[in-house]
Amino acid sequence: MTIHIQTPLIESLSVGRELSAKVWLKMEALQPCGSFKARGVGFACSKYATEGATAFISSSGGNAGLAVAYSGRCLKIPVTVVVPLTTKQKAIDLMEQEGATVIVHGELWLEAHQHAMSLAKQGAVYIHPFDDPYLWEGHASLIDEVKAAGVKPDVIVLSVGGGGLLSGVVLGLARNDWQEIPILAVETQGADSLSVAVAQNKHIGLTAISSIATSLGATKVAEHAFELVQQQPICSKVVTDKQAVDACLNFLDQHRVLVEPACGASLAAVYQHSEILTNKQNVLVIVCGGVGATVEQLNLWSSTL
Ligand SMILES: *Cc1c(COP(=O)(O)O)cnc(C)c1O
Repeated sequence: MTIHIQTPLIESLSVGRELSAKVWLKMEALQPCGSFKARGVGFACSKYATEGATAFISSSGGNAGLAVAYSGRCLKIPVTVVVPLTTKQKAIDLMEQEGATVIVHGELWLEAHQHAMSLAKQGAVYIHPFDDPYLWEGHASLIDEVKAAGVKPDVIVLSVGGGGLLSGVVLGLARNDWQEIPILAVETQGADSLSVAVAQNKHIGLTAISSIATSLGATKVAEHAFELVQQQPICSKVVTDKQAVDACLNFLDQHRVLVEPACGASLAAVYQHSEILTNKQNVLVIVCGGVGATVEQLNLWSSTL
């Protein structure tokens, strides 16, 4: 069963202003659960369902948890999401609205995660937010759609948290014989785990996350994502939280679509005319979306950061 929907690919004159290239937006923000996670998580859940899964577990209070909740509802398989006390009530409400059971456990994510893993031992399948080959295979479908639309990008801009989206896009490029297309992998300062690993040329991570772009907040990227950076034309870039937030507000004005700073990071890299975009003809931006921001919160961040 296919959980995700085919999203629009639109040319944006406003985001592409002053760039010589055409800028194409892959509108993952329009997935039913608000982010590209519908693709990978939906694919993984479908696969595990055909392999006999009778329940799913997640420990993400963010877009990954919501995508598991959504997928479970589509597949008629019960979902439990274990989240720490710090999780926003709005996130819990959204997951419960999808029919998931939300258990609030522990002060920190690690405690919630350990509780989720203990539940997984009793038979439910744990759905990882970024480190699972099924997830990457699901995310890869977005590149298939771009190819089917007849657009060949000469650079792709995307955001990186744990590197699941990056891994999926690389797989999508490979299976469409487009592996030569360079990728600009964008993070925010304080969630720049890929950038730090690239700079040290070692699979290291951060000790803590200090960015407001919580959906990019993996202290260490997946091993596979780190390996890909060594083999593929992938360029790492870091923007500030303020730049990511202002990009969200700009994008809201221009396209009337609300996205998280995690997504704003990619948009900021385009608004700033990152060097890799010069002399390109077709820039593809993955508008990865996210449900965790409100206009009020974005305005507050913009005035205080
Ligand atoms: C999960 C997520 C990311 C980061 O994706 P990874 O696969 O962890 O790299 C970026 N933006 C949004 C909106 C997300 O939900």
